[in-house]
Amino acid sequence: MTNHPTISLGISEDDLLNCTQCGTCLPVCPTYKIQPNETANPRGRLALMKATQDGILQMSDIASSLDMCLGCRACEVACPSGVNYGHILEQAKEAISSNTNYSMPVKIIRKVFMDTLLPHPKRMKWVKGGLRIYQKSGLQKIVRKSGILKVMPWHMDTFESVLPDVGPMFLHLPSNVTPELKEHSKEKPLIAFFTGCIQDAMFHETNRNTMKLLKASGYPVVVPDGQTCCGAIHAHAGEMDKAKKLAKKNIEMLERVKADYLVNNQGGCGAMMKEYDKLLEHDPQWAERAKEFVKKVKDINEILALVDELPDFKPIHEVITYQDSCHLLNVQGVKVQPRQLIHSIPGVQFEEMVSAGTCCGSAGTYNITHHEHSMEILDAKMLDVQATNATTVVTANPGCLLQMRIGIKRAGLEGKVRAVHIVDLLAEALKEDVKIN
Ligand code: SF4
Ligand code: SF4
Repeated sequence: MTNHPTISLGISEDDLLNCTQCGTCLPVCPTYKIQPNETANPRGRLALMKATQDGILQMSDIASSLDMCLGCRACEVACPSGVNYGHILEQAKEAISSNTNYSMPVKIIRKVFMDTLLPHPKRMKWVKGGLRIYQKSGLQKIVRKSGILKVMPWHMDTFESVLPDVGPMFLHLPSNVTPELKEHSKEKPLIAFFTGCIQDAMFHETNRNTMKLLKASGYPVVVPDGQTCCGAIHAHAGEMDKAKKLAKKNIEMLERVKADYLVNNQGGCGAMMKEYDKLLEHDPQWAERAKEFVKKVKDINEILALVDELPDFKPIHEVITYQDSCHLLNVQGVKVQPRQLIHSIPGVQFEEMVSAGTCCGSAGTYNITHHEHSMEILDAKMLDVQATNATTVVTANPGCLLQMRIGIKRAGLEGKVRAVHIVDLLAEALKEDVKIN
């Protein structure tokens, strides 16, 4: 490591000094489990950031240690000193990102995903259209047979093998508050459904099922126009200005529709939106509006747990376990509700997994950028899944769901164990089918 003058990370000294180096967070850190050295744990990472801030290290000296962090924020929950690790990490990543000259391919990929696709729902629909043609035209079979995916970069064969059926192009639901909905919402809160950019492109059925569950639970629902990507991928990549721009668009959207809640079914997106107040706290025009927005954001598990009487469920006779979404658990604090909802299905034998609250290694794009580490974490997780004898693993976030499906394949459990989103499990248990259009 070098000892050159460096650029500050812009993190408040108080935030960094909150860490007393006690080590309480070490046992919960998944990267420390697979690489037991100081640069792979939260305490060490905070010390590296402090040394960089003090000019002892350069950003390039600490980038790989921070890059290896999953951002799961389990350390934040475990910390007795209230170290705001997630916020500190994002600030460091922002500083590193704006001072790094990425290679041309990386620049192109960041631009295509973060600027050209994710913030534009219409373009995401074309991505989805392309995937649908790929899946339905027979092309997928030809590609799989040819073996070409094995020589493609970023372990594309692994991810393609768990690609869900993307389903039809559009979610046909009211985008405005109709007089009928207005009337209905006098009795029940009006819900605006946040479809998510990747979620709506790849897990259309889960979005439809979310709408069905909300309707069956008596909620009036709209899918407002003008919603955009939550900005989580941008924030985790250190692109804070872009994340703020997206946050403002979503705030404006919810203000227009005047709904009581903004409900989503993705642990990661929900966590991002619940922290818009922190993201915009120094922006005088937006700070108060962001606070109001945050009050209304709810995960589907939270909103269903508020229902006096859930819809009637038919029995599912299966052993079921639940893998927490890190951001639903560690940022949103939603732990009990999904378990209660699974228990509400008759016939289910619920088995708690020993490492349910530990990251599965998906972590946004981590399973692409740090594939080996991610798979090491996942393989250990699959041993815990097997120890429960579960035939169904339930998750509440699209990234975790795909990761669990990869894990099932790697463990040779295909046909014996399935992974499903909690919404899809509950919709499968609905006694009566619900029409949403
Ligand atoms: S966010 Fe997760 S991976 Fe990163 S330091 Fe904290 S516990 Fe470890
Ligand atoms: S982050 Fe918190 S738990 Fe971890 S070493 Fe620092 S003070 Fe202790």
